[in-house]
Amino acid sequence: MADAGPSTQEHNTGDEFLKEAFNILMQDAVQKGTDRSHKVCEWMEPEELRGALNLDLQSHGESKEVLLGYCRDIIRLSVKTGHPRFFNQLFSGLDRYALTGRILSETLNTSQYTYEVAPVFVLMEEEVLKTLRHFIGWKTGDGIFCPGGSLSNMYAMNLARFHRFPHCKEKGLSALPRLAVFTSEESHYSVQKGAAFLGIGTDNVILVQTNSRGKMVAEDLELKIQEANDKGFFPFLVSTTCGTTVLGAFDPLPEIADVCERHGLWLHVDAAWGGSALLSTKHRHLLNGIERADSVTWNPHKMLGVGLQCSAFLLRDTTDLLTQCHAANAKYLFQTDKFYDLKYDTGDKSIQCGRRVDCLKLWLMWKAIGSEGLERRVDRALEHTRYLVEQMKTREGFCLVMEPEFVNLCFWYVPPSLRGKQKSPDFWDRLGKVAPVIKERMMKKGSMMVGYQPHGNRVNFFRQVVINPAVTKEDLDFFLNEIEMMGGNL
Ligand SMILES: *Cc1c(COP(=O)(O)O)cnc(C)c1O
Repeated sequence: MADAGPSTQEHNTGDEFLKEAFNILMQDAVQKGTDRSHKVCEWMEPEELRGALNLDLQSHGESKEVLLGYCRDIIRLSVKTGHPRFFNQLFSGLDRYALTGRILSETLNTSQYTYEVAPVFVLMEEEVLKTLRHFIGWKTGDGIFCPGGSLSNMYAMNLARFHRFPHCKEKGLSALPRLAVFTSEESHYSVQKGAAFLGIGTDNVILVQTNSRGKMVAEDLELKIQEANDKGFFPFLVSTTCGTTVLGAFDPLPEIADVCERHGLWLHVDAAWGGSALLSTKHRHLLNGIERADSVTWNPHKMLGVGLQCSAFLLRDTTDLLTQCHAANAKYLFQTDKFYDLKYDTGDKSIQCGRRVDCLKLWLMWKAIGSEGLERRVDRALEHTRYLVEQMKTREGFCLVMEPEFVNLCFWYVPPSLRGKQKSPDFWDRLGKVAPVIKERMMKKGSMMVGYQPHGNRVNFFRQVVINPAVTKEDLDFFLNEIEMMGGNL
């Protein structure tokens, strides 16, 4: 008999499988995965994990029961980023509305490029981007959802260059002078990656000094631009940061915007992390001046907890620069004789072909809790940070790296054996070894996860970020107690 694709029976078992898999998803990933009486992670060495997983792919298919077992194992052995004691990343939490949006987009499985194949999502993306621009303070503009903030930052770099040198799209790098990008010492590493990827070169990313709180020094920017001009570089872009990845610092945008205006430079604001503060009446002042930017990166998948990935690249431009810069006008996809208005085929704004639907999860969550609900989440995150700061000040052993400006709470834990020994020559060396040991202990126990890093000339310190709206004061007390308990005998 000729093979006519999967039999009806295969489809039926597929449906049954899906239903049962959904039950497992609900019970194990959603409920247990966010339940304090269950672990955050189940640590295994890679070889042990490989043994536990049966990863190799075979010529034959396996039964429903076996497959459902894999699903359970995958969930059990994965990190529960939605757990209230997961503090390791700049994303966390499991918003049920956003999750529903994610499941819907995965199921409908379309590509965001043309109206004919994504009618709802073309209109929805436009609306969501418009709303995000509104919070920046722009009445018009453009934008696109990108696969992450790093890519959004690279879009900014490419557009800024195209804006200054429109012929570079055809002529390439050989037609350009030696370009220079300015960004702070504290900026995200994607600025370096972008310069490498786009042929600008990391040597031409000029690092501007930051002050003791990690903010770009506008006077130094001015100086570095002049130096670059004198050396024959061609400055074209200043990439600022609102909410730096480690310290959570916000660059002083009004002063930097003045410098950019004086020198005719593109002002990009990487607000991947800090952008969500725009939703809070109380905290949006952190981003004062953002309306003067030419472009902005904003990751709702971070502080708003939408789920990976959801990163908006937003533009003040109204001249269709995105399309001009990126369009390749492929005739097989963007036919010019379609029966509907071609302005709804937005896909050529992208450097991709197929593009995920990233707007739906944010849209659905926004519909569910409104901008008021989002504002409460932002405010709550900052209140939790305040609470931790106050608690740390009353507990011996917790030493702030600095007073937090945002929700990045950077601190050392000084175990009893090191207290009062700040003057001893090996104090900092020894302190730098504390965080990795505490981290190992928490992960092997599975009780919580928090990140640490060395930074500049500072030895390893923890960076605590509390953005999951499900976190309570009790979780924060638990966090402090757990650090004390795990570091007490070091
Ligand atoms: C997280 C972050 C990025 C990168 O975003 P991804 O979505 O992880 O690529 C860029 N800039 C800042 C300031 C960030 O915190």
